[in-house]
Amino acid sequence: MRITFCGAAETVTGSCHLIEVDGLRLLLDCGLFQGGHQREDLNRKPFPFDPKDIDAVLLSHAHLDHAGRLPLLVQRGFSGEIHCTTPTAEIAKLMLADSAHLQVEEASYRARKARRRGETAEPPLYDMADVLRCAELFRPVPHYGKAIRLNDRVSFVLHDAGHILGSAAVELQTSNGNLLFSGDLGNRHQPIVRDPSPPPQADVLLIESTYGDRAHRSMEDTVTEFKDAIDTIIPNGGNLLIPSFALERAQEVLYELFILWTNKKLPRCRIFLDSPLAISTTRVFERYPGYFDAEGQSIFATRPNPFDFTPLRFTQTTDESKEINKASKGNIIIAGSGMCTGGRIIHHLRHNLWHKNSGVLFVGYQAVGTLGRRIVEGARQVRIFGEEINVAATIWTTNGFSSHADQPILLDWIRQAEPKHVFLVHGEDDTLDAFASRIREDLSIEPHIARLRETVEV
Ligand SMILES: [Zn+2]
Repeated sequence: MRITFCGAAETVTGSCHLIEVDGLRLLLDCGLFQGGHQREDLNRKPFPFDPKDIDAVLLSHAHLDHAGRLPLLVQRGFSGEIHCTTPTAEIAKLMLADSAHLQVEEASYRARKARRRGETAEPPLYDMADVLRCAELFRPVPHYGKAIRLNDRVSFVLHDAGHILGSAAVELQTSNGNLLFSGDLGNRHQPIVRDPSPPPQADVLLIESTYGDRAHRSMEDTVTEFKDAIDTIIPNGGNLLIPSFALERAQEVLYELFILWTNKKLPRCRIFLDSPLAISTTRVFERYPGYFDAEGQSIFATRPNPFDFTPLRFTQTTDESKEINKASKGNIIIAGSGMCTGGRIIHHLRHNLWHKNSGVLFVGYQAVGTLGRRIVEGARQVRIFGEEINVAATIWTTNGFSSHADQPILLDWIRQAEPKHVFLVHGEDDTLDAFASRIREDLSIEPHIARLRETVEV
C-alpha cells in the first residue's frame, strides 16, 4: 500500500491523501487550503497526481478544508464516484455552492483591480458549473458500519466520527491490511451529534492532530460563560452578537439557547439566525434526526425544539437582516462568518460594536489575521468597510464549544485501534511534536509526522 500526503500535512487545512492499493487509486478527502494567501495559493498548484487516474474519493465530512477542492478535481478531469454519508452529501453540496459563489465574487474583485493596473487576474478556482458536475458524482452511503465493495479486494466502511452531522472515519479493508483514516474526530458530549464510535482494528492509522497537545475545558464552564454574556447584555437592552460557523456550531448554539429557554433561564429576547447558509444547513439537520445522539433525538422528537421555539427567527433575506438593527434592542444575533472575515456579521458589528451595552460572544477559534482575532485580542478600534469603529461592546470568548477530540480522546482512540503504523495529519507543527512524544510515551508506538507531498510504503 502506498500513501501520498497531498494536504493537511504539517497544517490543519487542505485534507487530501492518495492511497494506492490493490490496483486502485483512492483519495481520502479533497479539501481546500485555508488561512492566508500563502496557503490559499497551494489550491491552484497542480495535484501531485492526475485527477483522471483517481478511481474514487472517500469523503470524511462536509467541512471545506476536507471537501472544498472537489469541484476543482472534477474541473481537472476526475470522473469517479464520491462516497460519503447521506447528510455529508447534502451539506457538502450547500458548502461547495457557497464556496463557488465566494470564489467567483473574489475573482471578479481581483479582476477589477488588475484591470486598473493593466494586468489580468487569476480566474476563480471553480464556479457553479463545476459544483453541479461534482454534485452528480456523490454516492451517499445510507448507514454507518456497512462494508461497501470498491473492487474484488477492497471495501470501505464509514464509522461515526462524532465531529459534525454525517461525519465519518473511513476504514479501508484491503489485501494489504486495514487502513483507518480518522477524518476529524469529534469531542465527547457535544450537543446533537453522537460521541465518536470506537475505531475498528487498523494496521495503518492516519489520525488528525488538531488538539493533540491539550485537553478541552468542560462544557459546563462554557455554558456558564454563555449565560453570563446573555444575562449581562439582554436585560440592559443591548444586542448580543454571536459570530458562528454555519455548519454544526450554529446548530449547537441554538441547542444551548433552547435548553436555557426551556429551563426558564433565558431573559426575554428575540434570537435571529441571520445566515442563509446556516439556515439551509439547519434544514438538513432537521431531515436527519437518526444521526443525533439519544438526548438529541428525544429533544427533537417534539415541538418546541432547538430549531423551532418562540424567540427564534430565521432571517433569510437581506431586507429581513437589515430590519434586525432597526428593531428593538435585546436581540441575540447569530451570523457568519465565524471569524468575522465576511458575511452578515460584519454589518452587525458595525452597528453594535461601538455601543457599550452591546456584546460579542465568540464561540469558535479565531485565526491570526482575522477581524475576529483582533477583537478577541482587545483592539480598541477596528476598521469595518473603510470606517474606524470603536470597540466599546463587552467581548466574551468561550473555549468549550469544540467539535474536535482533545488529547485524551485521541490517545484512547489510537489505543483501541491497535495500529502497527501511525501517521499524524491535520495538525500544526508544535502540536504535532507534542502529540508525537505523548504517543511514544503513553502507547509505545513510534508515530510518523506526515510531510506535505511525501510518499510512504507500508
Ligand atoms: Zn472538520
